[in-house]
Amino acid sequence: MKFELDVHTHTIASGHAYSTINEMVAAAEEKGLRLLGITEHAPAMPGSCHEMYFHNLYVVPRLQGGVEVLLGAEVNLLDTEGRLDLRPSTISRLDLCIVGIHVPTFVSGTKTENTDALVKVMSRPDVHIISHPGDGTAELDFEPIVRAAAEHHTLLEINNSSARPERNKPQAISNMLELLRLHKEYDLPVILGSDAHVHFDVARFNEVIPLLEEADFPPELVINTSVEAFKSYLNLKS
Ligand SMILES: [Zn+2]
Ligand SMILES: [Zn+2]
Repeated sequence: MKFELDVHTHTIASGHAYSTINEMVAAAEEKGLRLLGITEHAPAMPGSCHEMYFHNLYVVPRLQGGVEVLLGAEVNLLDTEGRLDLRPSTISRLDLCIVGIHVPTFVSGTKTENTDALVKVMSRPDVHIISHPGDGTAELDFEPIVRAAAEHHTLLEINNSSARPERNKPQAISNMLELLRLHKEYDLPVILGSDAHVHFDVARFNEVIPLLEEADFPPELVINTSVEAFKSYLNLKS
């Protein structure tokens, strides 16, 4: 499989990541990507950037060398009410909005409450991708989430970082296999995300490629293989 894009990455602005925009773009170019997304953690994540950071992104060129760059955020789902840690007026300035559930910033409810909150967030037209729904941070019921992804053209991520042994996320593998099984059943695209926090990891999908194989997942449903398919699925400007 030839990958053209990786849109879930972080730079030093996220506070616990270690490369600059320049280094991330150079790594993307070296790996043959056409499109790189940089999605810093939103303000509720300890050590990440202020909301102001996201207001000033217009100063950064969106074409650097041969690589198109999308600048966005990985916004935190805060609770079962579906609250996020960036205002809609800030999200509207982003090229790309990923929403994720993270240990330090999510107040969990029951499995049903967590699922309903995520489904509610997915119905927003300004939310494009849900990061690592399979990482086990919150208990979730995947079938309604995959149905919501189909209804609202939201992409669910198969996250390489969640599957790394050092992360010690015991449910991640079985959850991601379940997500792949459901996407295959519903004939829906998934997105792979490296979630790189250092430039060496841009477009690193080594942990999840074996899961695609194990699930006998159709390559044409991996949206990272086409920038055009990715943009048109999310209705992004080209
Ligand atoms: Zn995340
Ligand atoms: Zn991330």
